[in-house]
Amino acid sequence: MSDCVFCRIVAGDVESSRVHEEARVVAFMDIQPVNPGHVLVVPREHAASLAELDDRDAAAMMAAARRVAGALRRSGLRCDGVNLWLADGDAAGQDVFHVHLHVVPRFEGDGFALELPADVRVRDRPELDATAARIRSAFCAGKGHPVSDTCQRGVREVSDTSLRGVREVSETCQRQDRDLQGFSFGAQS
Ligand SMILES: [Zn+2]
Repeated sequence: MSDCVFCRIVAGDVESSRVHEEARVVAFMDIQPVNPGHVLVVPREHAASLAELDDRDAAAMMAAARRVAGALRRSGLRCDGVNLWLADGDAAGQDVFHVHLHVVPRFEGDGFALELPADVRVRDRPELDATAARIRSAFCAGKGHPVSDTCQRGVREVSDTSLRGVREVSETCQRQDRDLQGFSFGAQS
């Protein structure tokens, strides 16, 4: 038996209060809600982190979270707004290492807040451009899909020369692009 509590919830081996189910995802109540109506959306397939998450499961999670948010607003529970929240990694506050998207109903004065650092400020364009370039260079040819070993090799090879080289698409990347086409975002029940 899996020692992942969310895998056990998905399998029905651990009690949960289910809200919604689809082919790829399950939604159930957070046992320690920020506000009444706080729901978690998880993929049925175990993935510890965003890096491990299948793109189709990621899409299914967002689509289901959007539907849960609509249901919350119509439910009669106090819900004047909604936050979607996903913590990836210890430093981000991830507690259960099976990817989960929080759907949190919000209302004025509910006491839930993200605190900004004291020195947060508008940055100048050269700094933003430099940071953006650094992130772009870490993408697989700027495509935004998961970076395979081949792609990472490619990125390392071009990163010493110039960013222009990053646009060169490896065979592996083109194959991944084809796989991602024809994706269905409809309800998968
Ligand atoms: Zn799991």
